[in-house]
Amino acid sequence: MQNNDTIVAIATPSGAGGIGIIRVSGSQSAQIAGQIFRAKRKKINWESHRLYHGDIVSRASGKVLDEVLISLMRRPQSFTGEDVLEINCHGNPLIMQTIFQELIALGCRPAAPGEFSRRAFLNGRIDLAQAEALAAMIAAKSEKACAASLQQLKGALGREIDYLRVLLVDALAFIEAGIDFTDDIVAPEIPDIPPQLEIAAGRLQSLLLTYPAAKYYTDGINAVITGKPNAGKSSLLNSLTGKKRAIVNEIPGTTRDFITSEITVNGVSINLTDTAGIRQPQNAVEKEGIDLVWENLAQADVVIILLDSSRPLTNEDSEIIEKNKTSNVICAINKSDLPSTWQPEEIPGLPEAAGKIKISAKFGNGLDELKKLIVDRVVTTEEKNTDGLIVANLRHKSALEKTGNFIGKAKDSIGKGLSPEFAAV
Ligand code: GDP
Repeated sequence: MQNNDTIVAIATPSGAGGIGIIRVSGSQSAQIAGQIFRAKRKKINWESHRLYHGDIVSRASGKVLDEVLISLMRRPQSFTGEDVLEINCHGNPLIMQTIFQELIALGCRPAAPGEFSRRAFLNGRIDLAQAEALAAMIAAKSEKACAASLQQLKGALGREIDYLRVLLVDALAFIEAGIDFTDDIVAPEIPDIPPQLEIAAGRLQSLLLTYPAAKYYTDGINAVITGKPNAGKSSLLNSLTGKKRAIVNEIPGTTRDFITSEITVNGVSINLTDTAGIRQPQNAVEKEGIDLVWENLAQADVVIILLDSSRPLTNEDSEIIEKNKTSNVICAINKSDLPSTWQPEEIPGLPEAAGKIKISAKFGNGLDELKKLIVDRVVTTEEKNTDGLIVANLRHKSALEKTGNFIGKAKDSIGKGLSPEFAAV
Protein backbone atom coordinates (compact mmCIF):
# COMPACT_ATOMS: atom_id res chain seq x y z
CA MET A 1 0.00 0.00 0.00
CA GLN A 2 1.48 3.35 -0.98
CA ASN A 3 0.96 6.42 1.13
CA ASN A 4 1.99 9.17 -1.22
CA ASP A 5 -0.88 8.80 -3.67
CA THR A 6 -4.29 10.40 -3.40
CA ILE A 7 -7.14 8.09 -2.47
CA VAL A 8 -10.89 8.38 -2.93
CA ALA A 9 -13.89 6.57 -1.46
CA ILE A 10 -17.64 6.97 -1.23
CA ALA A 11 -17.97 7.50 2.53
CA THR A 12 -21.72 7.03 2.93
CA PRO A 13 -23.32 3.54 2.91
CA SER A 14 -24.25 2.01 -0.42
CA GLY A 15 -27.77 2.58 -1.70
CA ALA A 16 -29.79 5.72 -2.27
CA GLY A 17 -29.92 8.52 0.31
CA GLY A 18 -30.60 12.23 0.50
CA ILE A 19 -26.94 13.08 0.62
CA GLY A 20 -23.84 11.11 -0.32
CA ILE A 21 -20.31 11.98 0.75
CA ILE A 22 -17.23 11.34 -1.35
CA ARG A 23 -13.92 11.72 0.41
CA VAL A 24 -10.49 12.31 -1.10
CA SER A 25 -7.22 12.31 0.83
CA GLY A 26 -3.66 12.99 -0.28
CA SER A 27 -1.30 15.56 -1.71
CA GLN A 28 -3.33 16.03 -4.91
CA SER A 29 -6.57 16.93 -3.11
CA ALA A 30 -6.29 20.71 -3.48
CA GLN A 31 -5.33 20.52 -7.13
CA ILE A 32 -8.15 18.08 -7.88
CA ALA A 33 -10.60 20.37 -6.06
CA GLY A 34 -9.68 23.15 -8.46
CA GLN A 35 -10.14 20.89 -11.47
CA ILE A 36 -13.48 19.32 -10.61
CA PHE A 37 -15.38 22.15 -8.92
CA ARG A 38 -16.98 25.31 -10.31
CA ALA A 39 -18.07 27.68 -7.56
CA LYS A 40 -21.35 29.61 -7.62
CA ARG A 41 -19.42 32.70 -6.62
CA LYS A 42 -16.86 33.44 -9.27
CA LYS A 43 -13.67 33.47 -7.23
CA ILE A 44 -12.92 31.35 -4.18
CA ASN A 45 -9.66 31.04 -2.29
CA TRP A 46 -10.16 27.52 -0.88
CA GLU A 47 -10.04 28.49 2.76
CA SER A 48 -9.48 25.39 4.90
CA HIS A 49 -12.52 23.83 6.63
CA ARG A 50 -14.99 26.01 4.76
CA LEU A 51 -18.00 24.88 2.76
CA TYR A 52 -18.36 26.12 -0.80
CA HIS A 53 -21.48 25.82 -2.95
CA GLY A 54 -21.20 25.00 -6.64
CA ASP A 55 -21.12 22.34 -9.36
CA ILE A 56 -19.02 19.29 -10.05
CA VAL A 57 -18.11 19.49 -13.71
CA SER A 58 -16.71 16.75 -15.95
CA ARG A 59 -13.35 17.83 -17.30
CA ALA A 60 -13.74 15.86 -20.53
CA SER A 61 -17.29 16.88 -21.49
CA GLY A 62 -17.80 20.09 -19.52
CA LYS A 63 -21.10 18.61 -18.30
CA VAL A 64 -22.40 19.45 -14.82
CA LEU A 65 -22.49 16.17 -12.84
CA ASP A 66 -24.15 17.48 -9.67
CA GLU A 67 -24.71 20.54 -7.51
CA VAL A 68 -22.72 20.09 -4.31
CA LEU A 69 -21.22 21.50 -1.13
CA ILE A 70 -17.50 20.95 -1.03
CA SER A 71 -14.82 21.53 1.59
CA LEU A 72 -11.07 21.26 1.67
CA MET A 73 -9.44 20.44 4.98
CA ARG A 74 -5.80 21.31 4.70
CA ARG A 75 -3.13 19.23 6.43
CA PRO A 76 -2.30 18.65 9.17
CA GLN A 77 -5.70 19.69 10.62
CA SER A 78 -7.66 16.95 8.91
CA PHE A 79 -8.79 13.44 9.81
CA THR A 80 -5.95 11.74 7.94
CA GLY A 81 -3.37 14.49 8.53
CA GLU A 82 -3.22 15.00 4.74
CA ASP A 83 -5.18 17.42 2.56
CA VAL A 84 -8.73 16.06 2.57
CA LEU A 85 -11.48 16.99 0.14
CA GLU A 86 -15.08 16.22 1.03
CA ILE A 87 -17.84 16.43 -1.54
CA ASN A 88 -21.44 16.44 -0.28
CA CYS A 89 -23.41 15.47 -3.34
CA HIS A 90 -26.90 14.04 -3.83
CA GLY A 91 -27.16 10.46 -2.55
CA ASN A 92 -28.08 8.80 -5.83
CA PRO A 93 -25.67 5.86 -6.40
CA LEU A 94 -25.37 6.76 -10.13
CA ILE A 95 -24.36 10.37 -9.35
CA MET A 96 -21.87 9.21 -6.72
CA GLN A 97 -20.35 6.65 -9.12
CA THR A 98 -20.00 9.27 -11.88
CA ILE A 99 -18.21 11.71 -9.57
CA PHE A 100 -16.08 8.85 -8.21
CA GLN A 101 -15.04 7.87 -11.76
CA GLU A 102 -14.26 11.51 -12.56
CA LEU A 103 -11.94 11.63 -9.53
CA ILE A 104 -10.23 8.41 -10.68
CA ALA A 105 -9.74 10.00 -14.10
CA LEU A 106 -8.08 12.96 -12.36
CA GLY A 107 -5.52 10.63 -10.77
CA CYS A 108 -7.07 9.35 -7.54
CA ARG A 109 -6.85 5.69 -6.56
CA PRO A 110 -9.79 3.85 -4.91
CA ALA A 111 -9.02 3.60 -1.18
CA ALA A 112 -8.46 0.17 0.32
CA PRO A 113 -10.75 -0.80 3.27
CA GLY A 114 -9.77 1.22 6.34
CA GLU A 115 -7.15 3.21 4.47
CA PHE A 116 -8.34 6.63 5.70
CA SER A 117 -8.02 5.46 9.33
CA ARG A 118 -4.69 3.83 8.52
CA ARG A 119 -3.34 7.12 7.21
CA ALA A 120 -4.73 8.96 10.26
CA PHE A 121 -2.84 6.47 12.44
CA LEU A 122 0.40 6.60 10.42
CA ASN A 123 0.34 10.41 10.46
CA GLY A 124 -0.09 10.44 14.24
CA ARG A 125 -3.61 11.93 14.15
CA ILE A 126 -5.03 9.04 16.19
CA ASP A 127 -3.42 6.35 18.34
CA LEU A 128 -4.13 2.66 17.95
CA ALA A 129 -6.79 2.68 20.69
CA GLN A 130 -8.58 5.50 18.86
CA ALA A 131 -8.38 3.70 15.51
CA GLU A 132 -9.91 0.65 17.17
CA ALA A 133 -12.51 2.86 18.84
CA LEU A 134 -13.58 4.19 15.46
CA ALA A 135 -14.32 0.70 14.20
CA ALA A 136 -16.10 -0.16 17.46
CA MET A 137 -18.18 3.00 17.32
CA ILE A 138 -19.37 2.33 13.79
CA ALA A 139 -20.37 -1.22 14.79
CA ALA A 140 -21.82 -0.30 18.22
CA LYS A 141 -25.27 -1.72 18.87
CA SER A 142 -26.21 0.14 22.04
CA GLU A 143 -26.04 3.63 23.49
CA LYS A 144 -23.58 2.37 26.11
CA ALA A 145 -21.30 0.89 23.47
CA CYS A 146 -21.41 4.15 21.51
CA ALA A 147 -20.60 6.18 24.62
CA ALA A 148 -17.70 3.89 25.49
CA SER A 149 -16.18 4.00 22.01
CA LEU A 150 -16.62 7.79 21.92
CA GLN A 151 -14.66 8.07 25.20
CA GLN A 152 -11.95 5.90 23.70
CA LEU A 153 -12.00 7.95 20.51
CA LYS A 154 -11.53 11.12 22.52
CA GLY A 155 -8.44 9.47 23.96
CA ALA A 156 -9.71 8.63 27.48
CA LEU A 157 -8.34 5.08 27.39
CA GLY A 158 -5.04 6.26 25.89
CA ARG A 159 -4.70 8.88 28.66
CA GLU A 160 -5.38 6.30 31.38
CA ILE A 161 -2.76 3.98 29.87
CA ASP A 162 -0.27 6.88 29.69
CA TYR A 163 -0.91 7.57 33.37
CA LEU A 164 -0.36 3.89 34.25
CA ARG A 165 2.92 4.07 32.38
CA VAL A 166 4.03 7.15 34.35
CA LEU A 167 3.20 5.35 37.60
CA LEU A 168 5.23 2.31 36.57
CA VAL A 169 8.22 4.38 35.46
CA ASP A 170 8.13 6.19 38.82
CA ALA A 171 7.92 2.89 40.68
CA LEU A 172 10.87 1.61 38.69
CA ALA A 173 12.89 4.71 39.63
CA PHE A 174 12.23 3.99 43.32
CA ILE A 175 13.23 0.37 42.97
CA GLU A 176 16.36 1.11 40.96
CA ALA A 177 17.43 3.73 43.50
CA GLY A 178 17.64 0.81 45.91
CA ILE A 179 20.02 -1.00 43.55
CA ASP A 180 22.31 1.97 42.98
CA PHE A 181 22.73 3.22 46.53
CA THR A 182 23.43 0.00 48.47
CA ASP A 183 27.27 0.02 48.71
CA ASP A 184 28.89 3.14 50.12
CA ILE A 185 26.07 5.72 50.28
CA VAL A 186 23.20 5.41 52.71
CA ALA A 187 20.13 4.61 50.66
CA PRO A 188 17.23 7.10 50.78
CA GLU A 189 14.20 6.03 52.78
CA ILE A 190 12.31 3.81 50.34
CA PRO A 191 9.03 2.10 51.17
CA ASP A 192 9.13 -1.64 50.58
CA ILE A 193 6.58 -1.62 47.81
CA PRO A 194 6.54 1.74 45.99
CA PRO A 195 3.06 3.27 46.38
CA GLN A 196 2.96 3.91 42.61
CA LEU A 197 3.05 0.17 42.04
CA GLU A 198 0.03 -0.34 44.29
CA ILE A 199 -1.88 2.50 42.65
CA ALA A 200 -1.10 1.19 39.15
CA ALA A 201 -2.21 -2.31 40.19
CA GLY A 202 -5.51 -0.92 41.55
CA ARG A 203 -6.31 1.21 38.51
CA LEU A 204 -5.42 -1.62 36.17
CA GLN A 205 -7.75 -3.93 38.09
CA SER A 206 -10.62 -1.43 37.81
CA LEU A 207 -10.11 -1.24 34.06
CA LEU A 208 -10.11 -5.02 33.72
CA LEU A 209 -13.33 -5.26 35.74
CA THR A 210 -15.15 -3.39 32.98
CA TYR A 211 -14.44 -6.04 30.35
CA PRO A 212 -17.33 -8.45 31.08
CA ALA A 213 -19.83 -5.58 30.97
CA ALA A 214 -18.26 -4.24 27.79
CA LYS A 215 -19.05 -7.50 26.02
CA TYR A 216 -22.73 -6.99 26.85
CA TYR A 217 -22.62 -3.33 25.81
CA THR A 218 -21.13 -4.33 22.48
CA ASP A 219 -23.01 -7.53 21.64
CA GLY A 220 -26.12 -7.10 23.78
CA ILE A 221 -27.42 -9.55 26.37
CA ASN A 222 -28.83 -12.83 25.06
CA ALA A 223 -31.94 -13.66 27.03
CA VAL A 224 -33.88 -16.81 26.15
CA ILE A 225 -37.47 -17.38 27.27
CA THR A 226 -38.32 -20.97 28.01
CA GLY A 227 -41.20 -22.81 29.65
CA LYS A 228 -43.82 -25.42 28.95
CA PRO A 229 -46.43 -24.82 26.25
CA ASN A 230 -49.03 -22.17 27.15
CA ALA A 231 -46.94 -20.65 29.96
CA GLY A 232 -47.19 -17.36 28.03
CA LYS A 233 -43.78 -17.17 26.29
CA SER A 234 -45.07 -15.64 23.06
CA SER A 235 -47.24 -13.19 25.01
CA LEU A 236 -44.16 -12.18 27.02
CA LEU A 237 -42.03 -11.61 23.92
CA ASN A 238 -44.79 -9.53 22.35
CA SER A 239 -45.38 -7.46 25.50
CA LEU A 240 -41.69 -6.82 26.11
CA THR A 241 -41.04 -5.75 22.53
CA GLY A 242 -44.34 -3.96 22.08
CA LYS A 243 -44.78 -5.77 18.76
CA LYS A 244 -46.73 -8.77 17.63
CA ARG A 245 -43.76 -10.97 16.79
CA ALA A 246 -44.89 -14.37 18.06
CA ILE A 247 -48.24 -16.09 17.68
CA VAL A 248 -50.21 -16.24 20.92
CA ASN A 249 -52.57 -19.19 21.00
CA GLU A 250 -54.23 -21.53 23.46
CA ILE A 251 -53.23 -24.50 21.32
CA PRO A 252 -50.04 -25.87 22.87
CA GLY A 253 -47.01 -26.33 20.58
CA THR A 254 -47.72 -23.28 18.37
CA THR A 255 -44.17 -21.92 18.37
CA ARG A 256 -41.94 -24.43 16.59
CA ASP A 257 -39.13 -22.21 15.44
CA PHE A 258 -37.51 -19.58 17.61
CA ILE A 259 -38.05 -15.86 17.26
CA THR A 260 -35.54 -13.21 18.31
CA SER A 261 -36.32 -9.57 18.89
CA GLU A 262 -34.23 -6.76 20.32
CA ILE A 263 -35.14 -4.31 23.06
CA THR A 264 -33.08 -1.61 24.77
CA VAL A 265 -33.01 -1.07 28.53
CA ASN A 266 -31.05 1.90 29.91
CA GLY A 267 -28.85 1.95 26.83
CA VAL A 268 -28.11 -1.80 26.87
CA SER A 269 -29.62 -3.97 24.18
CA ILE A 270 -31.23 -7.29 25.03
CA ASN A 271 -31.70 -9.94 22.35
CA LEU A 272 -34.84 -11.77 23.45
CA THR A 273 -35.59 -15.21 22.06
CA ASP A 274 -38.95 -16.96 22.31
CA THR A 275 -38.63 -20.71 21.94
CA ALA A 276 -40.86 -23.72 21.37
CA GLY A 277 -42.68 -24.90 24.51
CA ILE A 278 -40.93 -27.79 26.20
CA ARG A 279 -42.97 -30.99 26.49
CA GLN A 280 -42.96 -34.52 25.08
CA PRO A 281 -42.88 -33.70 21.32
CA GLN A 282 -46.02 -34.75 19.44
CA ASN A 283 -44.38 -34.90 15.99
CA ALA A 284 -41.07 -34.53 14.13
CA VAL A 285 -41.42 -30.75 13.58
CA GLU A 286 -42.08 -30.09 17.25
CA LYS A 287 -39.15 -32.34 18.21
CA GLU A 288 -36.81 -30.33 16.01
CA GLY A 289 -38.13 -27.11 17.58
CA ILE A 290 -37.48 -28.44 21.07
CA ASP A 291 -33.95 -29.61 20.12
CA LEU A 292 -33.27 -26.04 18.99
CA VAL A 293 -34.39 -24.74 22.39
CA TRP A 294 -31.62 -26.64 24.18
CA GLU A 295 -29.06 -25.21 21.75
CA ASN A 296 -30.37 -21.69 22.37
CA LEU A 297 -30.40 -22.15 26.12
CA ALA A 298 -26.76 -23.25 26.12
CA GLN A 299 -25.75 -19.90 24.59
CA ALA A 300 -27.94 -17.68 26.75
CA ASP A 301 -26.56 -15.08 29.15
CA VAL A 302 -29.85 -15.20 31.03
CA VAL A 303 -32.53 -17.90 30.95
CA ILE A 304 -36.05 -16.72 31.73
CA ILE A 305 -38.07 -19.69 32.93
CA LEU A 306 -41.72 -18.87 32.61
CA LEU A 307 -44.12 -20.64 34.97
CA ASP A 308 -47.92 -20.43 34.87
CA SER A 309 -49.08 -19.65 38.40
CA SER A 310 -52.73 -20.21 37.55
CA ARG A 311 -52.16 -23.95 37.15
CA PRO A 312 -50.33 -26.47 39.33
CA LEU A 313 -46.64 -27.02 38.62
CA THR A 314 -45.91 -30.15 36.55
CA ASN A 315 -43.03 -32.50 35.79
CA GLU A 316 -42.36 -30.45 32.63
CA ASP A 317 -41.70 -27.38 34.81
CA SER A 318 -39.38 -29.40 37.04
CA GLU A 319 -37.49 -30.77 34.05
CA ILE A 320 -36.90 -27.25 32.69
CA ILE A 321 -35.71 -26.00 36.09
CA GLU A 322 -33.44 -29.04 36.51
CA LYS A 323 -31.88 -28.68 33.07
CA ASN A 324 -31.10 -24.97 33.61
CA LYS A 325 -29.86 -25.15 37.15
CA THR A 326 -26.30 -24.15 36.20
CA SER A 327 -27.46 -21.16 34.14
CA ASN A 328 -28.12 -17.58 35.16
CA VAL A 329 -31.86 -18.02 35.73
CA ILE A 330 -34.75 -15.65 36.26
CA CYS A 331 -37.93 -17.39 37.23
CA ALA A 332 -40.83 -15.33 35.89
CA ILE A 333 -44.07 -16.30 37.56
CA ASN A 334 -46.67 -15.51 34.94
CA LYS A 335 -50.43 -14.98 34.90
CA SER A 336 -50.23 -13.24 38.29
CA ASP A 337 -53.49 -11.50 37.31
CA LEU A 338 -55.27 -14.84 37.89
CA PRO A 339 -55.69 -16.58 41.28
CA SER A 340 -52.51 -18.56 41.94
CA THR A 341 -52.49 -22.28 42.72
CA TRP A 342 -49.02 -22.18 44.37
CA GLN A 343 -46.64 -19.69 46.00
CA PRO A 344 -43.21 -18.47 44.78
CA GLU A 345 -41.53 -20.20 47.77
CA GLU A 346 -42.91 -23.52 46.63
CA ILE A 347 -40.99 -23.95 43.38
CA PRO A 348 -39.11 -27.25 43.78
CA GLY A 349 -35.48 -27.45 42.66
CA LEU A 350 -35.09 -23.76 41.85
CA PRO A 351 -31.50 -22.71 42.75
CA GLU A 352 -31.15 -20.21 45.62
CA ALA A 353 -29.33 -17.76 43.38
CA ALA A 354 -32.08 -17.60 40.76
CA GLY A 355 -33.98 -14.34 40.35
CA LYS A 356 -37.74 -14.45 40.96
CA ILE A 357 -40.43 -12.07 39.78
CA LYS A 358 -44.22 -12.08 39.46
CA ILE A 359 -45.49 -10.82 36.13
CA SER A 360 -48.48 -10.77 33.85
CA ALA A 361 -47.39 -11.07 30.23
CA LYS A 362 -50.94 -10.35 29.13
CA PHE A 363 -51.54 -7.18 31.16
CA GLY A 364 -47.95 -5.95 31.47
CA ASN A 365 -47.56 -6.11 35.26
CA GLY A 366 -43.96 -6.43 36.42
CA LEU A 367 -42.46 -6.19 32.92
CA ASP A 368 -40.37 -3.05 33.56
CA GLU A 369 -38.94 -4.73 36.66
CA LEU A 370 -38.24 -7.86 34.62
CA LYS A 371 -36.30 -5.88 32.00
CA LYS A 372 -34.23 -4.21 34.72
CA LEU A 373 -33.64 -7.57 36.38
CA ILE A 374 -32.31 -9.05 33.11
CA VAL A 375 -29.64 -6.32 32.92
CA ASP A 376 -28.88 -6.49 36.67
CA ARG A 377 -28.35 -10.25 36.50
CA VAL A 378 -25.51 -9.77 33.99
CA VAL A 379 -24.04 -6.33 34.52
CA THR A 380 -23.04 -5.56 38.13
CA THR A 381 -23.49 -2.09 39.66
CA GLU A 382 -19.72 -1.71 39.80
CA GLU A 383 -19.48 -2.40 36.08
CA LYS A 384 -22.24 0.11 35.33
CA ASN A 385 -20.45 2.97 37.15
CA THR A 386 -17.44 3.17 34.91
CA ASP A 387 -17.99 6.68 33.52
CA GLY A 388 -17.77 5.23 30.06
CA LEU A 389 -14.09 4.28 30.42
CA ILE A 390 -14.31 0.61 29.57
CA VAL A 391 -12.10 -2.01 28.04
CA ALA A 392 -14.07 -3.66 25.27
CA ASN A 393 -11.28 -5.02 23.13
CA LEU A 394 -9.76 -8.46 23.70
CA ARG A 395 -6.28 -7.25 22.71
CA HIS A 396 -6.46 -4.46 25.31
CA LYS A 397 -7.69 -6.91 27.94
CA SER A 398 -4.81 -9.35 27.30
CA ALA A 399 -2.24 -6.53 27.40
CA LEU A 400 -3.63 -5.25 30.70
CA GLU A 401 -3.67 -8.77 32.16
CA LYS A 402 -0.04 -9.28 31.17
CA THR A 403 0.91 -5.98 32.78
CA GLY A 404 -1.04 -6.95 35.89
CA ASN A 405 0.87 -10.24 36.12
CA PHE A 406 4.22 -8.44 35.89
CA ILE A 407 3.21 -5.97 38.59
CA GLY A 408 2.15 -8.95 40.72
CA LYS A 409 5.55 -10.61 40.22
CA ALA A 410 7.39 -7.41 41.13
CA LYS A 411 5.33 -7.04 44.31
CA ASP A 412 5.93 -10.70 45.16
CA SER A 413 9.68 -10.48 44.86
CA ILE A 414 9.80 -7.34 47.02
CA GLY A 415 7.55 -9.09 49.51
CA LYS A 416 9.89 -12.06 49.65
CA GLY A 417 12.79 -9.71 50.39
CA LEU A 418 14.65 -10.55 47.17
CA SER A 419 17.21 -8.03 46.03
CA PRO A 420 15.61 -5.10 44.10
CA GLU A 421 17.01 -6.18 40.71
CA PHE A 422 14.36 -8.86 40.52
CA ALA A 423 11.47 -6.44 40.98
CA ALA A 424 13.10 -3.98 38.56
CA VAL A 425 13.27 -6.59 35.80
P1 GDP B 1 -46.74 -19.95 24.91
O1 GDP B 1 -47.25 -21.24 24.37
O2 GDP B 1 -45.91 -20.18 26.13
O3 GDP B 1 -46.05 -19.11 23.92
O4 GDP B 1 -48.00 -19.13 25.46
P2 GDP B 1 -48.87 -18.00 24.75
O5 GDP B 1 -48.17 -16.69 24.86
O6 GDP B 1 -49.29 -18.47 23.41
O7 GDP B 1 -50.08 -17.91 25.75
C1 GDP B 1 -50.93 -19.03 25.99
C2 GDP B 1 -52.24 -18.52 26.53
O8 GDP B 1 -52.06 -17.92 27.82
C3 GDP B 1 -52.90 -17.46 25.66
O9 GDP B 1 -54.28 -17.69 25.63
C4 GDP B 1 -52.57 -16.16 26.37
O10 GDP B 1 -53.52 -15.16 26.15
C5 GDP B 1 -52.59 -16.61 27.83
N1 GDP B 1 -51.74 -15.77 28.67
C6 GDP B 1 -50.43 -15.48 28.50
N2 GDP B 1 -49.97 -14.66 29.50
C7 GDP B 1 -51.02 -14.43 30.31
C8 GDP B 1 -51.18 -13.66 31.52
O11 GDP B 1 -50.27 -13.02 32.05
N3 GDP B 1 -52.42 -13.68 32.09
C9 GDP B 1 -53.46 -14.37 31.55
N4 GDP B 1 -54.61 -14.30 32.18
N5 GDP B 1 -53.34 -15.09 30.42
C10 GDP B 1 -52.15 -15.13 29.80
